[in-house]
Amino acid sequence: MKILREILEDAKNKIVKLNGERLCNQTSNSCGCCNWDYSLISLDEKREIVEFLRKNNEVKEKVLKNKLEESVCYFHDKELGKCLIYKLRPICCRYISYKIYEKDDCFKTCSPLEPCRKSCSTVIRLEKKDVRIEKYPLKSYQLNDERYYFIDDKVIEEYKEYKNKQNVKLNSVIEEIKK
Ligand code: SF4
Ligand code: SF4
Repeated sequence: MKILREILEDAKNKIVKLNGERLCNQTSNSCGCCNWDYSLISLDEKREIVEFLRKNNEVKEKVLKNKLEESVCYFHDKELGKCLIYKLRPICCRYISYKIYEKDDCFKTCSPLEPCRKSCSTVIRLEKKDVRIEKYPLKSYQLNDERYYFIDDKVIEEYKEYKNKQNVKLNSVIEEIKK
């Protein structure tokens, strides 16, 4: 986990140096990807999050309250507009706006130019021919005379290993912390 988090953080930092911080609502309000209860995690991540919540009662109570209200991701702090488990947030939450997804006939990625708003995602479609392989683990494409860089997780060995273990729902943490 530690190594994969470091690889992704390093790749993200390279992109930030090349393109600046990416515009995204993800961990700043509930209109972006934090609006859903969709995250899959590994058992290692689950253990870390459960342990953290058991030691931090105030955060645990907020998560349980969110669960009762059935709104947004249960780990999103609506008052403060931030992730309650930010340091331990799932891999899929860490770099989603910096990632490029290969589909059968195209690539998809978050727009580097505008953040998503009120359930209106700005994910864009790119032709395969327009996407270029860059230095590991990045891909890029040209838009408005600027080259934008994204993480290609398929080339990261540690990510491939992680994917095989990423089969637990984040919300399964709730049952554990209720015990
Ligand atoms: S779709 Fe992308 S840009 Fe929009 S909120 Fe999610 S991660 Fe951010
Ligand atoms: S765990 Fe945190 S970053 Fe991930 S969706 Fe929930 S609030 Fe957002």
